[in-house]
Amino acid sequence: MEHSSLIKAKRSARQTFLPFALPHITQAEIDEVVDTLRSGWLTTGPKTKRFEREFAAQVGAPYALAVNSATAAMHLALDAIGLQAGDEVIVPDYTFTATAEVVAYFKAKPVFVDVDLVTCNLDAAQLEKHITPRTRAIMVVHIAGLPAELDAIHAIAKAYGLPVIEDAAHAFPAKYRGQMIGTTSDLTAFSFYVTKTLSTGEGGMLTTANPEYAERAAIMALHGISRDAWKRYSEQGSWYYEVLRAGYKYNMTDLAAAIGLHQLARSEWLLERRCAIAQRYSNAFSHLPEIETPPNPAHVEHVWHLYILRLRLERLTITRDAFIQALKQAKIGTSVHFIPLHLHPFYRDTYQLAADDFPVALHAYRRAISLPIYPGMTDEDVEDVIAAVEKIIITHRKPPCISHK
Ligand SMILES: *Cc1c(COP(=O)(O)O)cnc(C)c1O
Repeated sequence: MEHSSLIKAKRSARQTFLPFALPHITQAEIDEVVDTLRSGWLTTGPKTKRFEREFAAQVGAPYALAVNSATAAMHLALDAIGLQAGDEVIVPDYTFTATAEVVAYFKAKPVFVDVDLVTCNLDAAQLEKHITPRTRAIMVVHIAGLPAELDAIHAIAKAYGLPVIEDAAHAFPAKYRGQMIGTTSDLTAFSFYVTKTLSTGEGGMLTTANPEYAERAAIMALHGISRDAWKRYSEQGSWYYEVLRAGYKYNMTDLAAAIGLHQLARSEWLLERRCAIAQRYSNAFSHLPEIETPPNPAHVEHVWHLYILRLRLERLTITRDAFIQALKQAKIGTSVHFIPLHLHPFYRDTYQLAADDFPVALHAYRRAISLPIYPGMTDEDVEDVIAAVEKIIITHRKPPCISHK
């Protein structure tokens, strides 16, 4: 009894700030990085190649190319399909800028499409009306780690002969109807940025089943130099190389791959922990009518990169921004996903977009708060978050509306 009252006392006044996100690093990652440092081979080499093989095997993709970000992977994907200046690419409006900026790299145009009210993923029902003779590809994002409606999207893509590129920055190791993300479309980009479900600090992976895309991307990822250029300093390598195209510098380092190898080996446990936290949150919040808990449909495997709460602001006397401030005062870190792209000055001004052009994305953004969800959180941390959210809701609940007719 004394114990439980102590916990309660602690919970009402958390002493330390709970960061919004933290990577989960164990001794295995540390040892592997040290081993890499001692090996003398720091950049792309044997560990990157092993990481590619093991990632490809885990996802079931014929080809996997390790790069230094998901942004790089998406850039390479658009290069592989031959995107040209003046072309158009379908991009969901509710995403991180990376999904659309890579289109702008080519002086091509990202054509934004609004998202589905429930999942905040690309709304397949609104897709077709945005396709024009200039459309060259459809980009799909799996918001929070919940796969988008790929069957409906692929049906439209097929009808128009368009490749589908997945921004799976949130979605390792998610599944759509039993199929691993990374094998579901023409090209898929994963992110290993520090907050993501698998982290190498910075990093990414491009997967595909198409050998021509794989070959092109591998060459472009390392200066447009003929394949396996990374080997030129090894015993099997040769000093001679040829530059075939003006490529990029997107290769992953062995230092990053060293971390990735162990994250990959622990990915099942990391996923279980995220799922457990999501379930605890949703159970606790399902009793609060002021909150909409995130969807988790049965035909997908959600990997819970993010846990996005949606406030029913009409039932509250507090704004979303003040809610975030109150959580900060309770020492809970949060974030907001996403500021719709059409609101950012660059996209708004370049493509002449108005605030109300994408009403669903705008509505989702205005009431969203992302709560901490990562494997290193203790059960106490999770309960602290729940207690803080509940307290703010109870303090700012609107009295039920009574009609006086
Ligand atoms: C994190 C993120 C990216 C970018 O990933 P990087 O590896 O940092 O390039 C792209 N798209 C979405 C939706 C993201 O959340």
